[in-house]
Amino acid sequence: MTSASPAETFSPETVAHTPGARLKELNLSLAPGITFRLESLFPKLTGWGWKEDLRQRVKLLKQVEPLLLQSLSRGEEVVYIAKGVQYSLLEAWMMGIWARSINQTVFVLTNIRVLMFRTDGAGRPKNTSWTILYSEIKKFNGRWNGMMSLKLNDGSKLLFSGFKRQDRRRMPTIFRQAYEWYLAKGIALNCSQSLEKLCSHCLTNMPKGEYQCSHCQAEHWTPFEIAWRSFVFPSWGEFVMGHSLMAIIELLGGFFTWSFLVACTGLALKHADVGYLISGLTMFAVGNGLDALLTSHIARKGLHLKKRPAEETT
Ligand SMILES: [Zn+2]
Repeated sequence: MTSASPAETFSPETVAHTPGARLKELNLSLAPGITFRLESLFPKLTGWGWKEDLRQRVKLLKQVEPLLLQSLSRGEEVVYIAKGVQYSLLEAWMMGIWARSINQTVFVLTNIRVLMFRTDGAGRPKNTSWTILYSEIKKFNGRWNGMMSLKLNDGSKLLFSGFKRQDRRRMPTIFRQAYEWYLAKGIALNCSQSLEKLCSHCLTNMPKGEYQCSHCQAEHWTPFEIAWRSFVFPSWGEFVMGHSLMAIIELLGGFFTWSFLVACTGLALKHADVGYLISGLTMFAVGNGLDALLTSHIARKGLHLKKRPAEETT
């Protein structure tokens, strides 16, 4: 038996791991039709939890892969992916923790823009998406309480919670680097609003105030169409937007306001007293009105598919 030379037995303290090698080690692969910047996409390749981090990011990428294949333009590269929860004070106040169920968002940072996909808790996409050009971002920072805020050029502000600490640290830098690259390349893309809504069917940018896609002809619900449904019966608007969990919760409210109105109408007829009817109508208008206002607020945030293009519905 021959003993190994010192050079063969020497193990360096730090081994340079590449994302490609790490993906292979875990038997993971990425979609061939998409260009990924692996170095920035997988920042954690060593230390505690690197395997879990890599697996989670690949899983998120797989979930939104069909949307990326559909929406990325030529030369566009995926730079980073992370998942958070959009925060709204009004929704948190009126819906409590249930607001999280309708605000799960996967962020995909590319070399020219941010893509945001509404998803369920596991990162599976729903039909609402947005895009933000880096040139539309005024300020992006992580707060002490774990929230991240995004100030946009048009004055709007987005708040997110639920990002991993690593994402909160890395994303501002990636935004800045991407924006510098974007400026250096002289790229000038147009948008109709800082947070541009995307067609739920073909992911084309939809100009502000438009609900029918000029590219694929898909139709989307207007906030008013959704809100009046919620006024007639709370939960109807949530069903229309595909928020099943919220719809089931609100169903109880709807049954209560309608039952109260029917009972008050019965008492008004029985006692020939219009006061009962006024009480019933007041409760109905306040309860269902508040729900309609909240539903309208939610509906305004993104587009919700009403009708697919004609060739797919026949
Ligand atoms: Zn479309």
